Amino acid sequence: MTEPRAESAPDRARPPLVGPFGRRALRLGSVRGIEVGLDWSWVFIFLLITFSLARGFAAEGEALQPASAWAAGVLASLLFFTSILLHELGHSLTSNALGLPVRSITLFIFGGLARLSREPDRPRDELLIAAAGPAVSVLLGIVFLLLAAALPGDAAVLGLLGTVFGWLGTVNLALAIFNLVPGFPLDGGRILRGIVWSATGSFERATVVAAATGSFFAYLLIGGGILLALFFGLLFNGLWLAFIGWFLLSAAQGSTTQVVLQRQLGGLAVGPAAAPAEPVVPGDASVQDAVEDVVLRHGRRTFFVTEGSTRVGMATLHELRAVPREERASTPVRAVARPLDELVCVPHDASLWRALELMNEHRVNQLPVVREGALVGLLTRERLLGVIQSVQELGRS
Ligand SMILES: [Zn+2]
Repeated sequence: MTEPRAESAPDRARPPLVGPFGRRALRLGSVRGIEVGLDWSWVFIFLLITFSLARGFAAEGEALQPASAWAAGVLASLLFFTSILLHELGHSLTSNALGLPVRSITLFIFGGLARLSREPDRPRDELLIAAAGPAVSVLLGIVFLLLAAALPGDAAVLGLLGTVFGWLGTVNLALAIFNLVPGFPLDGGRILRGIVWSATGSFERATVVAAATGSFFAYLLIGGGILLALFFGLLFNGLWLAFIGWFLLSAAQGSTTQVVLQRQLGGLAVGPAAAPAEPVVPGDASVQDAVEDVVLRHGRRTFFVTEGSTRVGMATLHELRAVPREERASTPVRAVARPLDELVCVPHDASLWRALELMNEHRVNQLPVVREGALVGLLTRERLLGVIQSVQELGRS
């Protein structure tokens, strides 16, 4: 699954890695700049899969030591989640190659989620990114099945390894098929969206269609799951399906909300929503003066640095704090300010949607606004959220 999502971050500091439920995730490391994390809900599914596999392996091989069955269960479970990670990396590396940076991949109770910084610009990109995940799963499925076939079934350890690989092969192919169901947010739903988008030229209409089939499939899972739980004695499996359905349903509905927001913000310009580019501090003022005047007296965290009457850069509390206390009186603010050409800026006539995308893409909470090469304002995430709230309240009345 892939999902673009806005999240807040402190100025320039590394933002916390946030999982699919909006909770902070455990950082595992990074692959080519893509952060990989674990949501805590993953622990539950990992233990559950390991436990049921170990029991299954033990039941299958009569002569099997319990320790071997457990080792095989842990190995199979770890390789299963590695497969999911590779599926998500398939989406993410394709997305990166197409110029849409992916910020993170999180493993969680329902699998994995790659977080795109924004939606693709073209149907073709949507199709390629969506198809890359299932393609990886199919490939893994084939490789595991070939490995399983190559191992002798009668040898003790190799036979057990063959069983593990056989399971992984089947499960990866099943994963590919499930993900190809044409309902958003599943990969198949994104492929459907790419096709409808390509045919109609409307991203919005395509999203509504893919979200509708996604919701239909989600209701099917919820209904089917409840039936299994109530009438077929499959309480756990039934509830599990229903929970997956519920998760898919909320994601499908969220995508419709997002395109509505995109349409609303797409029609509003940055200029009127931005705050004036204030306060200003002359470039030759000391860091100490800036701390006293801007931060302590006026309670501001961001200010603009001027040379003559032109605003040439911006600095935040973060840069001021980086200067050792004893050097603050002798250091001019121009030495610590970030010059205009190093800042991620937004043109005053760009849309607020574009501004939101830029904030997410560059992980910043504020954007200096430029007009004809000059700094004219500052758009903060707070102001942007304020506009979103007003637009939504107006839309409801
Ligand atoms: Zn996928």
